[in-house]
Amino acid sequence: MSRLKKPFSHAYIALGSNLDDPVAHIRQAYHDLNALTDTSILRHSSLYKSAPVGRLDQPDFINAVAEIVTALQPLQLLHALLNIEQNHGRNRNNCNSLNAPRTLDLDILLYDNLRLETEALTLPHPRMVQRAFVLLPLMEITPDCEIPGHGKINQFIAFCHDQTIERLDIPE
Ligand code: ADP
Ligand code: MG
Repeated sequence: MSRLKKPFSHAYIALGSNLDDPVAHIRQAYHDLNALTDTSILRHSSLYKSAPVGRLDQPDFINAVAEIVTALQPLQLLHALLNIEQNHGRNRNNCNSLNAPRTLDLDILLYDNLRLETEALTLPHPRMVQRAFVLLPLMEITPDCEIPGHGKINQFIAFCHDQTIERLDIPE
């Protein structure tokens, strides 16, 4: 009897943290992603330090992007990521959570070539092409990345030149 193989998908996850030892939160999050059912990290970027966007009265962020293979469906993956965020003590009580400081933020940037617009999940991530802290680490691990509905990644970097970001020279 032949066994059905699970279909695996490629996804790119943006990681960000600016509270309580951000580098430690990002490193732990790599372990947490690898521990998800039928999911493994293929590679991840260097760590980047970026100035906050939108709300400026908060610490700098540490950011990275990880490429994963997963058998989780997009919404399953989103819920798994929200669960990891919660385990890192993410506080969503702040009603204005957009751009608020956080122990860990995990966003799905891309899931295969999927385009999706639902209340819970938008793919590709709606703000990814405007954020240097997403574009630079993503371009580091996949320089020819094609963003569904937008095009090649390299054309968007030029629009982010006013955003402060540096690649950190420390172990990932
Ligand atoms: P942000 O990451 O944009 O600062 P939050 O982390 O507070 O904002 O996310 C708020 C909500 O955004 C999540 O609860 C989730 O339902 C929704 N969302 C929509 N698309 C995505 C995506 N591609 N990745 C992660 N969350 C998403
Ligand atoms: Mg998020």
